[in-house]
Amino acid sequence: MKYSADVLDSIRWNEEGLVVVVAQDYNTGEVRMVAWANREALLKTLETGFAHYYSRSRRSLWKKGETSGQLQRVLQVRVDCDGDAVLYIIHQEQGVACHTGERNCFFRSIDGSKVTKPLPFEVLARLQEVIEDRLLKKPQDSYTVKIYMEGEDRILQKLGEEAVESLLALKGGDPQRIKEELSDLLYFMVLSLTTKGVSVAEVMEELSRRFKTSE
Ligand code: AMP
Ligand code: ZN
Ligand code: ZN
Ligand code: ZN
Repeated sequence: MKYSADVLDSIRWNEEGLVVVVAQDYNTGEVRMVAWANREALLKTLETGFAHYYSRSRRSLWKKGETSGQLQRVLQVRVDCDGDAVLYIIHQEQGVACHTGERNCFFRSIDGSKVTKPLPFEVLARLQEVIEDRLLKKPQDSYTVKIYMEGEDRILQKLGEEAVESLLALKGGDPQRIKEELSDLLYFMVLSLTTKGVSVAEVMEELSRRFKTSE
């Protein structure tokens, strides 16, 4: 990965020679984990394109997933404004990021409950993961599986119906109905994308490309 020596030199390593690293998921935007890196770990990451950290408990370089297989491909590395934190934008290649088996390390709410719902901005990508899982495992009681089994034309027909219901809701102007119908439409959009092997992220990338650099 291309990097600037100036930016690298602007990192303010702590007294142990470490900097905190936040690993954020490229597809969902979720924070997957937080760990430490020393200069070696960061350079290994830049060199190989896979997330490396420094394990404080083992006191050694740590390639994430080297024992679990849960590798993280690093798509971007960013440094924060004052150089005391680094951001890895990652693609979780296999499995999950947390060694407890949870998809990310931040599943514990301070109120003692478990976080089960994605944040709004994560939803489309997380929905696609759920749909992919259903189409793979085909559980009996799944609506997604039922529609899918009825064939591609049925999915497209539903997409069209929901588009019409959406425009009727927009005409009607009731915010609650608008939310519900547009949600139905988005669900069928994600389902049809999934059957075509196109990721939500690829659609978002297309929209991202359309941003002007000044914005
Ligand atoms: P891995 O790098 O996934 O092969 O895991 C190797 C070891 O690193 C695990 O046994 C844990 O001790 C530790 N580990 C892995 N993932 C995390 C994480 N997200 N947070 C803290 N420790 C981790
Ligand atoms: Zn900072
Ligand atoms: Zn964890
Ligand atoms: Zn509808």
